[in-house]
Amino acid sequence: MSNKLLLIKNGKIITSYGIFDNTDILIDNGKIKAIGKNISNDGSDVIDANGMFVFPGVVDIHVHIYDTGDIYEGTKEALLGGVTTVIDMPPTEPQIMDETSFNKKINDFESNTSVDFGLCAGEIYYDKHIENIKKLQELGAAYFKIFMPGPPAVTDDVIYKSLESAVKSGATIAIHAENMDIVNLFIERVKKSGRKNPIAHFESRPKIAEITAIQNSIVYAKVTNAHAHICHLTSAEAVDLISNAQKEDIKVTAETCPHYLVFTEEDINDKGPSLKMIPPIRKKSDQERLWRGIERGIINVITTDHCSFTKSEKDKWKNDIWGAPSGIPGLQISFPVMYTEFLKRGLPLTRLVQVMSTYPARIFHLGHRKGDIRIGMDADIIIFNPNRKWIVSDETIHGESDYRAYYGKRLEGTIETVVIRGEVALQDREITIKKGFGSFIKAEYLD
Ligand SMILES: [Zn+2]
Repeated sequence: MSNKLLLIKNGKIITSYGIFDNTDILIDNGKIKAIGKNISNDGSDVIDANGMFVFPGVVDIHVHIYDTGDIYEGTKEALLGGVTTVIDMPPTEPQIMDETSFNKKINDFESNTSVDFGLCAGEIYYDKHIENIKKLQELGAAYFKIFMPGPPAVTDDVIYKSLESAVKSGATIAIHAENMDIVNLFIERVKKSGRKNPIAHFESRPKIAEITAIQNSIVYAKVTNAHAHICHLTSAEAVDLISNAQKEDIKVTAETCPHYLVFTEEDINDKGPSLKMIPPIRKKSDQERLWRGIERGIINVITTDHCSFTKSEKDKWKNDIWGAPSGIPGLQISFPVMYTEFLKRGLPLTRLVQVMSTYPARIFHLGHRKGDIRIGMDADIIIFNPNRKWIVSDETIHGESDYRAYYGKRLEGTIETVVIRGEVALQDREITIKKGFGSFIKAEYLD
């Protein structure tokens, strides 16, 4: 069998561990074989990356493609956004918490997905789910999810027992942290006022619900010694809680999302149902603390929490925010949005790679193959033109997902080419691979 070689020449390579000007990457059979200057071309295909930035593909570990839309369309959005690996979330119902449903989901994805994928198992509600954690880990589940809002709303004993069980096998438990006793109290109060405008939704899920939920989760992680991952932080206090826990060496990691990093309370009424998600957007002061959390290594993962809800699904609820589905898309724009914000804030691009590719892969047990540009790893690569600018609009967004919250944003840089396992999957912004190209990436648990 002759090896398939691809040479990416003269790019500015941006990794988690440094930036290298005018450097080449040689890819052999889907893996990175060499990184260096003036690598000779032994009959390989060549991509000229002169003047381009070369990033590792984005690893987005929290997406809801399966339960909010179509696998093919959703993963196409990922590819257009430079996301080469997704970890897809389980729906609340039916749960993906046994061998049959887990394998079925792998098959459904494998016949439709454009990008590589891992799976998060869950949602964990009952003892029979907890008993299956180890089994699903053996089948390659990247992590396990607890969705506190439910239904049914998850009580603390379930969180505690899940962490207790996870520690035995080294599994990661991710928690959507909202204390539903508090949320339900506020929903009742706000609904009594009869208001249906978007800010009513914001007021019905105050950050004390997040803070108390995270506080308890951290205590359970501490006593069980298990790894708890807190999904989509929104508040300043949440960042402080994570920071303090990490100082105490409690195994807690955290993520936040582009929408919490670019929108604030002031945008809510304007954007309407297009900006409805749970937990909701917070205040400017919260947003600044999230950014500090990213800068200081407290928040090591940026995810989209992508949901594929369409404009019409959102527009039905223009005058009644309570009915609108919660969740917004992000896969197509998360990388350019974050790149633009990092430039504005003067943050290093190595840090951008760490939070969008390297740590997400490493924390969720895919780091043996994904998340950086290193010899031996999968050749998942974005070739990015830093000199082009564009505006998010109907013309620049593909597909049906409702990205209107981002419309009008001016972004720096465009994703020109995407390589997945050495295959050119997107070229000159056109998709060049077939449906079902992506494959399942089994999580690998190291001691
Ligand atoms: Zn989610």
